[in-house]
Amino acid sequence: MTPNDTVPPPRPGTDEPTRASPADPAGRDVDVLVVGAGQAGLGTAYHLTADPDLRVLVLDAAPIGRSWLDRWDSLTLFTPRRFSSLPGRRFPRGPGGCPPRTEMADYLRDYAEHFTLPVETGVRVHRLTRDGSGFVAVTSSGRVRARHVVVATGPFHRPHRPPASGDLDPNVRQLHSRDYRRPTDVPDGEVLVVGGGNSAAQLALELADAGRRVTVASPGRPWFLPETILGVSMYWWIYLAGVLNADRSAAVSRYIRNRGDAIVGTQLRTLVRRGRVRLLPHRVTGAHGHHVTLADATTVAVTTVLWCTGFRPDTSWIDVPGAVDDDGAPVHDAGESPVPGLHWMGLPWQTRLNSSIIDGVDRDARATAQRIIGSRHRSRAGTRGP
Ligand SMILES: Cc1cc2nc3c(=O)[nH]c(=O)nc-3n(C[C@H](O)[C@H](O)[C@H](O)COP(=O)(O)OP(=O)(O)OC[C@H]3O[C@@H](n4cnc5c(N)ncnc54)[C@H](O)[C@@H]3O)c2cc1C
Repeated sequence: MTPNDTVPPPRPGTDEPTRASPADPAGRDVDVLVVGAGQAGLGTAYHLTADPDLRVLVLDAAPIGRSWLDRWDSLTLFTPRRFSSLPGRRFPRGPGGCPPRTEMADYLRDYAEHFTLPVETGVRVHRLTRDGSGFVAVTSSGRVRARHVVVATGPFHRPHRPPASGDLDPNVRQLHSRDYRRPTDVPDGEVLVVGGGNSAAQLALELADAGRRVTVASPGRPWFLPETILGVSMYWWIYLAGVLNADRSAAVSRYIRNRGDAIVGTQLRTLVRRGRVRLLPHRVTGAHGHHVTLADATTVAVTTVLWCTGFRPDTSWIDVPGAVDDDGAPVHDAGESPVPGLHWMGLPWQTRLNSSIIDGVDRDARATAQRIIGSRHRSRAGTRGP
Protein backbone atom coordinates (compact mmCIF):
# COMPACT_ATOMS: atom_id res chain seq x y z
CA MET A 1 0.00 0.00 0.00
CA THR A 2 1.36 3.40 -0.87
CA PRO A 3 0.02 6.81 0.07
CA ASN A 4 -1.54 6.97 -3.37
CA ASP A 5 -3.56 3.80 -3.45
CA THR A 6 -5.15 3.42 -0.06
CA VAL A 7 -8.55 5.06 0.21
CA PRO A 8 -11.13 6.87 -1.81
CA PRO A 9 -11.01 10.67 -1.56
CA PRO A 10 -12.72 12.18 1.46
CA ARG A 11 -16.34 13.16 1.07
CA PRO A 12 -16.26 16.86 1.76
CA GLY A 13 -18.57 18.33 4.34
CA THR A 14 -20.18 15.14 5.60
CA ASP A 15 -19.86 13.16 8.78
CA GLU A 16 -19.99 9.91 6.86
CA PRO A 17 -16.95 7.73 7.12
CA THR A 18 -14.98 7.82 3.86
CA ARG A 19 -14.30 4.13 4.27
CA ALA A 20 -17.16 2.01 2.99
CA SER A 21 -16.16 -1.20 4.74
CA PRO A 22 -17.61 -2.00 8.18
CA ALA A 23 -15.47 -2.20 11.29
CA ASP A 24 -12.60 -4.59 10.74
CA PRO A 25 -12.11 -6.63 13.94
CA ALA A 26 -8.93 -8.30 12.64
CA GLY A 27 -7.32 -4.90 12.41
CA ARG A 28 -4.93 -3.37 9.97
CA ASP A 29 -1.21 -2.82 9.96
CA VAL A 30 0.42 0.39 8.80
CA ASP A 31 3.84 1.91 9.17
CA VAL A 32 2.58 5.33 10.22
CA LEU A 33 -0.77 6.28 11.72
CA VAL A 34 -1.46 10.00 11.69
CA VAL A 35 -4.32 10.98 14.02
CA GLY A 36 -6.00 14.18 12.80
CA ALA A 37 -6.48 15.44 9.25
CA GLY A 38 -6.24 19.14 9.97
CA GLN A 39 -3.37 21.18 8.58
CA ALA A 40 -0.79 19.48 10.87
CA GLY A 41 -1.83 15.95 9.93
CA LEU A 42 -2.17 16.66 6.21
CA GLY A 43 1.19 18.45 6.05
CA THR A 44 2.84 15.47 7.77
CA ALA A 45 1.15 13.00 5.41
CA TYR A 46 2.41 15.05 2.46
CA HIS A 47 6.03 14.86 3.63
CA LEU A 48 5.70 11.14 4.38
CA THR A 49 5.03 10.55 0.67
CA ALA A 50 8.78 11.13 0.24
CA ASP A 51 9.10 7.42 1.04
CA PRO A 52 6.73 5.68 -1.40
CA ASP A 53 7.11 2.35 0.43
CA LEU A 54 5.65 3.70 3.66
CA ARG A 55 2.14 2.49 4.48
CA VAL A 56 0.51 5.63 5.90
CA LEU A 57 -3.01 6.10 7.24
CA VAL A 58 -4.54 9.39 8.38
CA LEU A 59 -7.65 9.12 10.52
CA ASP A 60 -9.98 11.92 11.50
CA ALA A 61 -13.17 11.78 13.52
CA ALA A 62 -14.63 14.64 11.48
CA PRO A 63 -14.71 15.71 7.81
CA ILE A 64 -11.64 17.58 6.61
CA GLY A 65 -11.95 21.29 7.35
CA ARG A 66 -14.49 20.82 10.13
CA SER A 67 -12.38 22.56 12.78
CA TRP A 68 -12.53 25.74 10.67
CA LEU A 69 -16.24 25.40 9.84
CA ASP A 70 -17.05 24.95 13.52
CA ARG A 71 -15.67 28.40 14.34
CA TRP A 72 -17.76 31.57 14.30
CA ASP A 73 -19.41 32.73 11.05
CA SER A 74 -17.47 35.94 10.49
CA LEU A 75 -14.04 34.46 11.25
CA THR A 76 -11.40 35.69 8.86
CA LEU A 77 -7.93 34.30 9.30
CA PHE A 78 -5.36 36.64 10.82
CA THR A 79 -2.75 35.14 8.48
CA PRO A 80 -2.63 36.48 4.92
CA ARG A 81 -3.04 34.03 2.02
CA ARG A 82 0.71 34.01 1.49
CA PHE A 83 1.16 32.67 5.04
CA SER A 84 -1.72 30.19 4.89
CA SER A 85 -0.22 27.53 2.62
CA LEU A 86 0.72 23.94 3.30
CA PRO A 87 3.78 22.33 1.72
CA GLY A 88 3.61 21.79 -2.04
CA ARG A 89 0.45 23.77 -2.81
CA ARG A 90 -0.09 27.51 -2.57
CA PHE A 91 -3.20 28.87 -0.90
CA PRO A 92 -5.27 30.31 -3.79
CA ARG A 93 -5.17 34.00 -4.50
CA GLY A 94 -8.41 35.83 -3.83
CA PRO A 95 -10.03 39.01 -2.65
CA GLY A 96 -8.82 40.49 0.63
CA GLY A 97 -5.47 39.89 2.26
CA CYS A 98 -6.68 37.23 4.68
CA PRO A 99 -9.07 34.43 3.69
CA PRO A 100 -12.36 33.59 5.42
CA ARG A 101 -12.51 30.31 7.38
CA THR A 102 -14.65 28.64 4.66
CA GLU A 103 -11.83 29.10 2.12
CA MET A 104 -9.41 27.46 4.50
CA ALA A 105 -11.74 24.46 4.88
CA ASP A 106 -12.02 24.22 1.05
CA TYR A 107 -8.26 24.49 0.71
CA LEU A 108 -7.63 21.63 3.16
CA ARG A 109 -10.11 19.34 1.37
CA ASP A 110 -8.61 20.21 -1.99
CA TYR A 111 -5.11 19.60 -0.60
CA ALA A 112 -5.94 16.07 0.55
CA GLU A 113 -7.60 15.28 -2.78
CA HIS A 114 -4.88 16.83 -4.90
CA PHE A 115 -2.14 14.71 -3.32
CA THR A 116 -4.45 11.69 -2.88
CA LEU A 117 -3.47 11.57 0.75
CA PRO A 118 -4.55 8.37 2.54
CA VAL A 119 -7.22 10.00 4.70
CA GLU A 120 -10.22 8.32 6.27
CA THR A 121 -12.72 10.63 7.91
CA GLY A 122 -15.50 9.80 10.35
CA VAL A 123 -13.10 7.51 12.24
CA ARG A 124 -12.25 8.41 15.82
CA VAL A 125 -9.28 6.98 17.67
CA HIS A 126 -10.68 6.06 21.07
CA ARG A 127 -7.52 4.65 22.62
CA LEU A 128 -3.85 4.35 21.82
CA THR A 129 -1.67 1.80 23.58
CA ARG A 130 1.82 0.42 23.22
CA ASP A 131 2.24 -2.93 21.48
CA GLY A 132 5.76 -4.32 21.54
CA SER A 133 7.86 -1.84 19.62
CA GLY A 134 4.76 -0.28 18.00
CA PHE A 135 1.24 0.90 18.89
CA VAL A 136 -2.35 -0.25 18.71
CA ALA A 137 -5.10 2.27 18.06
CA VAL A 138 -8.64 1.28 18.95
CA THR A 139 -10.79 3.21 16.51
CA SER A 140 -14.46 3.46 15.62
CA SER A 141 -13.68 1.29 12.57
CA GLY A 142 -11.50 -1.38 14.18
CA ARG A 143 -7.95 -1.75 15.39
CA VAL A 144 -4.95 -0.28 13.66
CA ARG A 145 -1.41 -1.38 14.46
CA ALA A 146 1.31 1.08 13.62
CA ARG A 147 5.07 1.32 14.03
CA HIS A 148 4.84 5.10 14.32
CA VAL A 149 2.01 7.36 15.46
CA VAL A 150 1.81 11.09 14.78
CA VAL A 151 -0.64 12.86 17.08
CA ALA A 152 -1.92 15.84 15.07
CA THR A 153 -5.18 16.42 16.89
CA GLY A 154 -4.75 20.16 17.31
CA PRO A 155 -4.09 22.23 20.40
CA PHE A 156 -7.72 23.23 20.96
CA HIS A 157 -9.86 20.55 22.57
CA ARG A 158 -11.64 21.28 25.84
CA PRO A 159 -13.00 24.83 26.18
CA HIS A 160 -11.48 26.33 29.31
CA ARG A 161 -13.27 28.72 31.69
CA PRO A 162 -11.87 30.01 34.97
CA PRO A 163 -13.29 28.07 37.96
CA ALA A 164 -15.12 31.27 39.04
CA SER A 165 -17.54 30.77 36.15
CA GLY A 166 -19.18 28.04 38.24
CA ASP A 167 -20.08 30.58 40.94
CA LEU A 168 -22.26 32.74 38.71
CA ASP A 169 -26.03 32.72 39.06
CA PRO A 170 -27.70 30.24 36.67
CA ASN A 171 -29.59 33.17 35.10
CA VAL A 172 -26.35 34.72 33.87
CA ARG A 173 -25.94 33.59 30.26
CA GLN A 174 -22.50 32.09 29.77
CA LEU A 175 -20.98 31.13 26.45
CA HIS A 176 -17.51 29.98 25.42
CA SER A 177 -15.99 31.31 22.19
CA ARG A 178 -16.07 27.75 20.85
CA ASP A 179 -19.87 27.83 20.92
CA TYR A 180 -20.32 31.40 19.67
CA ARG A 181 -21.40 31.70 16.03
CA ARG A 182 -22.95 35.13 15.54
CA PRO A 183 -24.10 38.21 17.55
CA THR A 184 -27.65 36.87 17.90
CA ASP A 185 -26.19 34.19 20.21
CA VAL A 186 -25.71 37.01 22.73
CA PRO A 187 -28.81 38.71 24.16
CA ASP A 188 -29.22 42.49 23.71
CA GLY A 189 -27.65 44.67 26.39
CA GLU A 190 -24.41 44.29 28.30
CA VAL A 191 -21.86 41.59 27.65
CA LEU A 192 -18.62 40.92 29.45
CA VAL A 193 -16.01 39.45 27.10
CA VAL A 194 -13.26 37.71 29.11
CA GLY A 195 -9.92 37.10 27.41
CA GLY A 196 -6.85 38.82 26.09
CA GLY A 197 -6.27 37.17 22.71
CA ASN A 198 -7.45 37.51 19.15
CA SER A 199 -10.72 35.66 19.77
CA ALA A 200 -11.68 38.09 22.55
CA ALA A 201 -10.73 41.08 20.41
CA GLN A 202 -12.59 39.90 17.29
CA LEU A 203 -15.75 38.95 19.16
CA ALA A 204 -15.76 42.14 21.26
CA LEU A 205 -15.57 44.16 18.04
CA GLU A 206 -18.32 42.16 16.37
CA LEU A 207 -20.63 42.51 19.37
CA ALA A 208 -19.96 46.25 19.72
CA ASP A 209 -20.74 46.70 16.02
CA ALA A 210 -23.95 44.77 16.57
CA GLY A 211 -24.99 47.28 19.23
CA ARG A 212 -24.13 45.39 22.43
CA ARG A 213 -22.55 47.28 25.34
CA VAL A 214 -19.23 45.51 25.60
CA THR A 215 -16.76 45.32 28.49
CA VAL A 216 -13.55 43.39 27.92
CA ALA A 217 -11.73 41.91 30.92
CA SER A 218 -8.29 40.93 29.68
CA PRO A 219 -5.56 39.48 31.91
CA GLY A 220 -3.26 42.43 31.20
CA ARG A 221 -2.91 45.39 28.84
CA PRO A 222 -3.48 43.97 25.35
CA TRP A 223 -0.67 44.22 22.87
CA PHE A 224 -2.04 45.51 19.59
CA LEU A 225 -0.21 45.10 16.28
CA PRO A 226 -1.41 46.94 13.17
CA GLU A 227 -2.61 44.67 10.36
CA THR A 228 -0.41 46.54 7.90
CA ILE A 229 2.59 48.86 8.04
CA LEU A 230 3.22 51.05 4.97
CA GLY A 231 0.51 49.05 3.21
CA VAL A 232 2.35 45.76 3.79
CA SER A 233 0.93 42.99 5.99
CA MET A 234 2.34 42.77 9.51
CA TYR A 235 3.10 39.14 8.77
CA TRP A 236 5.63 40.18 6.16
CA TRP A 237 7.38 42.42 8.65
CA ILE A 238 7.61 39.83 11.37
CA TYR A 239 8.69 37.26 8.80
CA LEU A 240 11.38 39.59 7.43
CA ALA A 241 12.52 40.37 10.96
CA GLY A 242 13.03 36.61 11.50
CA VAL A 243 10.54 36.48 14.37
CA LEU A 244 8.14 33.92 12.85
CA ASN A 245 10.94 31.44 12.33
CA ALA A 246 13.09 32.19 15.35
CA ASP A 247 13.84 29.09 17.39
CA ARG A 248 11.68 28.79 20.51
CA SER A 249 14.78 29.23 22.68
CA ALA A 250 15.80 32.51 20.98
CA ALA A 251 15.55 35.69 23.05
CA VAL A 252 12.80 37.12 20.84
CA SER A 253 10.73 33.93 21.22
CA ARG A 254 11.13 33.98 24.99
CA TYR A 255 10.05 37.63 25.03
CA ILE A 256 6.90 36.87 23.02
CA ARG A 257 6.02 33.85 25.12
CA ASN A 258 6.23 35.92 28.29
CA ARG A 259 4.33 38.80 26.80
CA GLY A 260 1.44 36.66 25.46
CA ASP A 261 -0.50 36.77 22.21
CA ALA A 262 -0.47 39.98 20.22
CA ILE A 263 -3.83 41.17 18.92
CA VAL A 264 -3.66 41.58 15.17
CA GLY A 265 -5.46 44.82 14.23
CA THR A 266 -6.05 47.98 16.20
CA GLN A 267 -9.81 48.45 15.76
CA LEU A 268 -10.56 47.36 19.32
CA ARG A 269 -8.07 49.89 20.68
CA THR A 270 -9.84 52.59 18.66
CA LEU A 271 -13.25 51.64 20.09
CA VAL A 272 -11.79 51.66 23.61
CA ARG A 273 -10.34 55.14 23.05
CA ARG A 274 -13.70 56.35 21.74
CA GLY A 275 -15.43 54.95 24.81
CA ARG A 276 -17.51 52.48 22.80
CA VAL A 277 -15.91 49.49 24.52
CA ARG A 278 -14.78 49.43 28.14
CA LEU A 279 -11.46 47.71 28.73
CA LEU A 280 -10.53 46.38 32.18
CA PRO A 281 -6.99 45.00 32.01
CA HIS A 282 -7.29 42.56 34.90
CA ARG A 283 -7.70 38.84 35.31
CA VAL A 284 -11.00 37.39 36.57
CA THR A 285 -10.40 36.14 40.11
CA GLY A 286 -13.88 35.41 41.41
CA ALA A 287 -17.61 35.52 40.79
CA HIS A 288 -20.76 35.54 42.84
CA GLY A 289 -24.38 35.76 41.75
CA HIS A 290 -24.52 38.41 39.02
CA HIS A 291 -21.03 39.82 39.65
CA VAL A 292 -17.54 39.05 38.44
CA THR A 293 -14.51 40.18 40.45
CA LEU A 294 -11.22 41.16 38.84
CA ALA A 295 -7.68 41.03 40.22
CA ASP A 296 -7.73 44.75 41.12
CA ALA A 297 -10.92 44.15 43.19
CA THR A 298 -13.17 45.78 40.57
CA THR A 299 -16.61 44.20 40.51
CA VAL A 300 -18.54 44.00 37.25
CA ALA A 301 -22.29 43.35 37.16
CA VAL A 302 -23.05 40.81 34.43
CA THR A 303 -26.02 39.40 32.56
CA THR A 304 -24.01 37.72 29.77
CA VAL A 305 -20.41 36.51 29.83
CA LEU A 306 -18.53 35.38 26.73
CA TRP A 307 -15.49 33.38 27.82
CA CYS A 308 -12.64 33.67 25.31
CA THR A 309 -10.34 31.95 27.74
CA GLY A 310 -8.82 29.31 25.53
CA PHE A 311 -8.66 25.57 25.53
CA ARG A 312 -6.94 22.69 27.29
CA PRO A 313 -5.62 19.63 25.52
CA ASP A 314 -7.48 16.33 25.73
CA THR A 315 -5.01 13.48 25.60
CA SER A 316 -7.11 11.12 27.74
CA TRP A 317 -7.30 8.64 24.84
CA ILE A 318 -3.51 8.22 24.83
CA ASP A 319 -2.72 5.35 27.17
CA VAL A 320 1.02 5.20 26.58
CA PRO A 321 3.34 5.48 29.61
CA GLY A 322 5.62 8.50 29.32
CA ALA A 323 3.65 10.18 26.51
CA VAL A 324 1.99 12.88 28.62
CA ASP A 325 2.70 14.49 31.96
CA ASP A 326 0.48 14.45 35.06
CA ASP A 327 -1.61 17.29 33.62
CA GLY A 328 -2.10 15.46 30.32
CA ALA A 329 0.26 17.79 28.44
CA PRO A 330 2.42 16.20 25.72
CA VAL A 331 5.98 15.36 26.80
CA HIS A 332 8.24 16.13 23.86
CA ASP A 333 11.31 17.80 22.50
CA ALA A 334 10.47 19.65 19.28
CA GLY A 335 7.60 17.21 18.71
CA GLU A 336 9.64 14.08 19.38
CA SER A 337 8.27 12.02 22.26
CA PRO A 338 10.58 10.11 24.61
CA VAL A 339 8.40 7.12 23.63
CA PRO A 340 10.09 5.71 20.52
CA GLY A 341 7.83 5.95 17.48
CA LEU A 342 5.49 8.57 18.96
CA HIS A 343 5.45 12.08 17.48
CA TRP A 344 3.45 15.26 18.08
CA MET A 345 2.54 17.84 15.46
CA GLY A 346 1.00 21.30 15.61
CA LEU A 347 1.74 22.01 19.27
CA PRO A 348 2.10 25.64 20.38
CA TRP A 349 5.80 26.49 20.35
CA GLN A 350 6.70 22.97 19.21
CA THR A 351 9.80 24.45 17.63
CA ARG A 352 8.89 28.07 16.86
CA LEU A 353 6.28 30.81 17.17
CA ASN A 354 4.46 29.57 14.09
CA SER A 355 4.39 25.85 15.00
CA SER A 356 0.66 25.90 15.79
CA ILE A 357 -0.37 28.03 12.84
CA ILE A 358 -0.50 27.09 9.19
CA ASP A 359 2.70 28.78 8.22
CA GLY A 360 4.80 26.59 10.54
CA VAL A 361 3.42 23.24 9.41
CA ASP A 362 5.84 22.71 6.52
CA ARG A 363 9.02 22.86 8.57
CA ASP A 364 7.77 20.81 11.53
CA ALA A 365 6.04 18.25 9.30
CA ARG A 366 9.17 17.79 7.22
CA ALA A 367 11.26 17.24 10.36
CA THR A 368 8.71 14.72 11.69
CA ALA A 369 8.60 12.82 8.40
CA GLN A 370 12.40 12.79 8.18
CA ARG A 371 12.63 11.40 11.69
CA ILE A 372 10.22 8.60 10.83
CA ILE A 373 11.78 7.78 7.47
CA GLY A 374 15.29 7.96 8.95
CA SER A 375 14.42 5.63 11.82
CA ARG A 376 12.95 3.07 9.39
CA HIS A 377 16.13 3.14 7.38
CA ARG A 378 18.18 2.70 10.53
CA SER A 379 16.05 -0.22 11.74
CA ARG A 380 16.29 -1.86 8.30
CA ALA A 381 20.04 -1.45 8.52
CA GLY A 382 19.86 -3.32 11.84
CA THR A 383 20.47 -0.41 14.20
CA ARG A 384 18.06 0.80 16.89
CA GLY A 385 14.70 2.42 16.16
CA PRO A 386 11.04 1.42 15.90
C1 LIG B 1 -10.47 30.92 16.56
C2 LIG B 1 -9.16 30.52 15.93
C3 LIG B 1 -8.65 31.24 14.88
C4 LIG B 1 -7.43 30.87 14.28
N1 LIG B 1 -6.97 31.60 13.23
C5 LIG B 1 -5.79 31.26 12.66
C6 LIG B 1 -5.29 32.00 11.54
O1 LIG B 1 -5.86 33.00 11.14
N2 LIG B 1 -4.14 31.59 10.96
C7 LIG B 1 -3.46 30.49 11.40
O2 LIG B 1 -2.43 30.16 10.80
N3 LIG B 1 -3.89 29.80 12.48
C8 LIG B 1 -5.04 30.15 13.12
N4 LIG B 1 -5.50 29.42 14.18
C9 LIG B 1 -4.60 28.40 14.78
C10 LIG B 1 -4.52 27.06 14.01
O3 LIG B 1 -4.09 27.27 12.69
C11 LIG B 1 -5.85 26.31 13.97
O4 LIG B 1 -6.27 26.02 15.28
C12 LIG B 1 -5.78 24.99 13.20
O5 LIG B 1 -7.08 24.46 13.07
C13 LIG B 1 -4.85 23.96 13.88
O6 LIG B 1 -4.68 22.89 12.98
P1 LIG B 1 -4.36 21.43 13.49
O7 LIG B 1 -4.24 20.56 12.31
O8 LIG B 1 -3.21 21.49 14.44
O9 LIG B 1 -5.62 21.03 14.37
P2 LIG B 1 -7.15 20.96 13.97
O10 LIG B 1 -7.48 21.84 12.84
O11 LIG B 1 -7.91 21.13 15.23
O12 LIG B 1 -7.30 19.46 13.46
C14 LIG B 1 -7.22 18.38 14.36
C15 LIG B 1 -8.09 17.26 13.82
O13 LIG B 1 -7.94 16.12 14.66
C16 LIG B 1 -9.18 15.46 14.74
N5 LIG B 1 -9.18 14.66 15.97
C17 LIG B 1 -9.02 15.10 17.25
N6 LIG B 1 -9.02 14.04 18.09
C18 LIG B 1 -9.18 12.93 17.33
C19 LIG B 1 -9.26 11.53 17.62
N7 LIG B 1 -9.14 11.07 18.88
N8 LIG B 1 -9.45 10.66 16.59
C20 LIG B 1 -9.55 11.11 15.32
N9 LIG B 1 -9.49 12.43 14.98
C21 LIG B 1 -9.30 13.31 15.98
C22 LIG B 1 -10.21 16.58 14.76
O14 LIG B 1 -11.47 16.10 14.28
C23 LIG B 1 -9.57 17.61 13.80
O15 LIG B 1 -10.05 17.50 12.49
C24 LIG B 1 -6.70 29.76 14.79
C25 LIG B 1 -7.23 29.03 15.87
C26 LIG B 1 -8.44 29.40 16.44
C27 LIG B 1 -8.97 28.60 17.61
